[in-house]
Amino acid sequence: MTASANDRTVQMKSTGRFTSRLRKLTHYSHDKCSKCGSQLPTNMAAFAGYQADGSEIYVGACCQVLLSELASHIYWWWESYKRPEPDTILWRYMDFAKFVAMLKDRALWFSRLDSLGDPFEGARGLLARESEWKEHCLEYFREAIRSVPGSPSGALLRDIEADAERLYRDMQFALRREVRETYASCWHANSGESEGLWRLYAPANSAGVAITTRFDRLDQGLGEQYEVNFGHVRYIDFNTRFAGTYDRVFWKRSSLSHEQEVRGVIKGGAKSEDIKGISVRLDLSCIDRVVISPYSPPWFEDVLRTTMKSFELTAPVSPSDILSQPFF
Ligand SMILES: [Zn+2]
Repeated sequence: MTASANDRTVQMKSTGRFTSRLRKLTHYSHDKCSKCGSQLPTNMAAFAGYQADGSEIYVGACCQVLLSELASHIYWWWESYKRPEPDTILWRYMDFAKFVAMLKDRALWFSRLDSLGDPFEGARGLLARESEWKEHCLEYFREAIRSVPGSPSGALLRDIEADAERLYRDMQFALRREVRETYASCWHANSGESEGLWRLYAPANSAGVAITTRFDRLDQGLGEQYEVNFGHVRYIDFNTRFAGTYDRVFWKRSSLSHEQEVRGVIKGGAKSEDIKGISVRLDLSCIDRVVISPYSPPWFEDVLRTTMKSFELTAPVSPSDILSQPFF
């Protein structure tokens, strides 16, 4: 590639238009050019967009001449920590009622972030450290106001303070609203079972199951009705960190790290305050296996099999590994 070729693409105006196919292509190609397979360098942007025939491409400088519409520059390493590998095994533990609802609707339920039960969902940090966070933001805003091009150098201090406070309030309002407009479906990334999650989601003498799938199959199974972004949750010590503006929906307290969560996130899917979740069509064939809770009553397996048959779910059913017998 040549510097001038790169300059041309840098100068192409990005349209910001992302089809969900382009979003997925960008995700799966990640650090590879989708046209020639070259490893993309970490020190410069890649390009997501469309060829003249409308097909989606995600390319480096190697193949940028093929772009006829630039959707956006992509700095792929920003997200490299949270991207699930296509073959990541995912589990979802649930009680029987939720399982039946999923089969009946042929849909996966995405809960509104503030109804997931963790008060830290979408939080920036600890309340005890809010003043520290606020001061950091105010300083940033003061500097931005002071350095507006062409503004008189003697801007009144009290005007700067008032404007900075207003910008902070507006930002906080927008951040809280975003939590109420974000939806998540939570999965557990693990090659095997988790006794702790069985106890949590299918406690003793209740009927419960876990379904398993692979990340790429789940992602494809959700179709293109909504733009769903998947990522590994990061477990953070909020005593020492503040969550990032864009990443905070993927950050949780380190005390929850046993969840090993991968979540799918939908932003701005529904605007009404009354809506507690979104039902997203799911191709049930992406379910690889249904595992029966080790704490289920003995009659449950028969009911489960009958229910699956009536909703035409053909995935194999297996007992929990936790019931395996030891020898000495
Ligand atoms: Zn290439």
